[in-house]
Amino acid sequence: MPPLIAWLYLLTPKDRVLSALRGERVDRVPVSAVTQVGTVEAMAKTQAFWPDAHSDPEKMAALGVSLYRLAGLEAARIPFCLTVQAEAMGCPVDMGKGDRPPTVVAHSQAQIDQVALPPGYLDRGRIPMVIRATELLRSRYPDLPVMVGMEGPFTLAGHLVGIERLMLMTIRQRETVMNVVDICTKASVEYARALIDAGADVIVPCDPSASPELMSPKDFSSMVKPKLQELAQAISKRGGIGVLHICGRVQRIMKDMAETGFDSLSIEEKVDLSAAKALIGPKPTLVGNVSAANTLFLGRPEQVREEAKKALAAGVDVLAPGCGIAPRTPLENIRALVGTST
Ligand SMILES: [Zn+2]
Repeated sequence: MPPLIAWLYLLTPKDRVLSALRGERVDRVPVSAVTQVGTVEAMAKTQAFWPDAHSDPEKMAALGVSLYRLAGLEAARIPFCLTVQAEAMGCPVDMGKGDRPPTVVAHSQAQIDQVALPPGYLDRGRIPMVIRATELLRSRYPDLPVMVGMEGPFTLAGHLVGIERLMLMTIRQRETVMNVVDICTKASVEYARALIDAGADVIVPCDPSASPELMSPKDFSSMVKPKLQELAQAISKRGGIGVLHICGRVQRIMKDMAETGFDSLSIEEKVDLSAAKALIGPKPTLVGNVSAANTLFLGRPEQVREEAKKALAAGVDVLAPGCGIAPRTPLENIRALVGTST
């Protein structure tokens, strides 16, 4: 057998997804998810329910790999919220219910100039549990890409001091805001390194609060982009692959996102994929962009297939939900998504 053909036959989901994220040649476009994967149907089938799966490493690992086992989605992806770092930095978190993800209920810092990286950061809150779940997935699923999501620096800063307050302060107290975002970046770098050391292949900072729907592209460019660059560099230096996810209509910051140094960008259906490809070229690669909130959650399998085919035709590198999978998304629709790429 010629070496190239032999290699194609030997591709594991891990090889396929990681190569595709890096923009290397693969046998077919992988079907994966870099955003939240916990669904109510999968919780029942794996007996790993929310809210327990947010803090029990065994349950977190079981649910994180559930859509691979039940539908063939090429991913082991944890955790299922964007509150782990906020909690470790002192924010009280409501752990939610069976179909409601955890949320930050109060900010940890009344005094914005008192924000600091707590000593023993990696031992705080649920950080040790996510690290343990990463180790479990790595040792049990050597052929799957292990992906871990986390709050992006600006979203984390918003959790700590309140997003409205942070936005208002960007006008008059820019230095103070920059200082908070800088501390959040340092926290994220430390956490990302520990996750990679525990066996994570892919780190996915999700920074919804930095979306142009909330923040001006100019502020993104001057305040958030340099911090994301720092984070991307730290992930890659440690040997991980970085995927940046920002929700919503990110067209106006697409070029800046591409210049952050992340290997790949995860985008929603609100972004025209062909236009994004035309704007940024082959790298970073693009992950997405089947509508999680509409098509996957509420649509019929035919509609999922139709939208997936559109993304494939537009040149998506990794076919995936555009944002976090809604907990009540039918498994049938995940199977339809997986069946599209052959
Ligand atoms: Zn999103």
